[in-house]
Amino acid sequence: PKTLRLILGDQLNQKHSWFQSKDDQVTYALFETWSESTYAKHHIQKITGFFFAMRAFADWMQSEGHQVVYRTLDETRNLQLESISDNLLQVAKEEQFDVIEYQLPDEWRLDQELQALKENFGGVIKSVDSEHFMSVRDDVEEMFKGKKTYLMETFYRKMRKRHQILMDPSGEPETGTWNYDQENRGSLPKDIAFPTASTYVKDATEIVELLERNHVETMGRMKDNVFTYPVTRNECLEALEDFCENRLQFFGTYQDAMTVKHPLLYHANLSFAMNLKMISPREVIDAAIAAYRKQSKDITFNQLEGFVRQIIGWREYMRGVYWAQMPGFGQKNDLDHQLPLPGWYWTGKTKMNCLSHAVNQSLDLAYAHHIQRLMITGNFALILGAHPDDVDAWYLGVYIDAIEWVEITNTRGMSQRADGGLIATKPYCSSANYVNKMSDYCKSCHYNYKEKVGEKACPFNSLYWDFLDRHREKFQKNFRMAFMYRTWDKKDGDEKELILKRAAWVKEHREEL
Ligand code: FAD
Repeated sequence: PKTLRLILGDQLNQKHSWFQSKDDQVTYALFETWSESTYAKHHIQKITGFFFAMRAFADWMQSEGHQVVYRTLDETRNLQLESISDNLLQVAKEEQFDVIEYQLPDEWRLDQELQALKENFGGVIKSVDSEHFMSVRDDVEEMFKGKKTYLMETFYRKMRKRHQILMDPSGEPETGTWNYDQENRGSLPKDIAFPTASTYVKDATEIVELLERNHVETMGRMKDNVFTYPVTRNECLEALEDFCENRLQFFGTYQDAMTVKHPLLYHANLSFAMNLKMISPREVIDAAIAAYRKQSKDITFNQLEGFVRQIIGWREYMRGVYWAQMPGFGQKNDLDHQLPLPGWYWTGKTKMNCLSHAVNQSLDLAYAHHIQRLMITGNFALILGAHPDDVDAWYLGVYIDAIEWVEITNTRGMSQRADGGLIATKPYCSSANYVNKMSDYCKSCHYNYKEKVGEKACPFNSLYWDFLDRHREKFQKNFRMAFMYRTWDKKDGDEKELILKRAAWVKEHREEL
């Protein structure tokens, strides 16, 4: 039968079994659409990256002898076909295809859209696995059926056993220890040198003009229209090798560190490559394990284990949480937070050095590493009491790797605790003390990280106590928070009042911080 196969922008997997043989009856379709370009206000580099990677994938398919329909944004706009399914149906009908096939999407929104195809298509519709992940959609739901909280560590150990990753033949974890998180909280030594990561420079002017011509609103910046992320499989494999050779050796140790001197430190910057499926999680951890076994760089086990846990633990786990919790997850607001997110999240104009740094870096590069996302921008939004819808909109827009299944679970769940504590056993909130310990941000800040009250007091400090005070009912019985409540309760009444007053001022004047 004449078959039309859809490829979504985040399904650029050359290793998919679809491509193992050629068939004259099969045509592949990719569409740049208005709906995908505008469902969030995306970072200019995010849309650029998707379009570059999709175009490169279509070229690759053609060079392999497959038949391809590719519509640019100009073309789908001219045809007035806004969504992926509008375009797909139009091609299917016009060219009389008997069968439509698609790979299961990772987003609820698209899952619904593609399921609805059957209402408008008379032929056969088939969905197949995307052959990317190492777990299936429903693993987390099955594993934690009936439980109020999910535990990543339980899931992670099952994944290690199931796939025999870093396991002894006896069934015990290699080295005898499952998790080296305790060793992975180092702050940076003063004179440490940072490796430069390889870049893949492309002129993005044509795509920028395409977006402007079609009035797609974007956020963020791209200096001189120069785009640097890997967008082909070969570039992604090179970027993976670069990470294993040059950064994995300190990945774990300095995973939580932050500095004004360097945006990437020892992180992989492979989330974009993986989320678009240009490389697979299995390839990524296999390469890291091989680098460790080769031992050319003295990579210690804690570096490797920390990295493997991010990929087969956190990444797969978040996907499972997403499918266990959608569609309701996107409406959760357990702490009833209502404040709008300050406008400077979109401009970077704030006197708080940590936020100025994390936000400006995000606007410049469409990238921030995990601790910047969790303990700077996320932490501030949480203790301020920002509405999770606003926080989600920002995160879904600003990062090049932001796709809802992994964005919303991290933002609404892990960071904003809007899920009622399903994902994290304790809210990720802190005062300036933590920020100062893990970074060099506070040293050159307008505010004083040691002070809680007064004009120069770091806003994190009063907001932190205010957050604990106003959510006492939710958190005081949490054994990981009990110590902080005891510290708060020991403060005398006047001091508490001053701190809460300062917090009220900070919330009211949030745009001017
Ligand atoms: P590394 O630190 O080098 O980690 C290696 C890989 O592990 C990453 O590429 C990623 O695939 C995986 N990983 C690590 N932590 C997580 C996690 N918590 N959840 C899922 N995968 C993880 N990641 C996204 O891919 N898209 C998002 O939209 C996204 N939004 C986030 C929002 C918030 C508030 C927070 C706290 C985290 C978010 N993350 C998101 C997770 C994580 O911050 C990024 O995956 C990571 O910073 C990407 O950079 P990297 O490749 O250098 O990561």
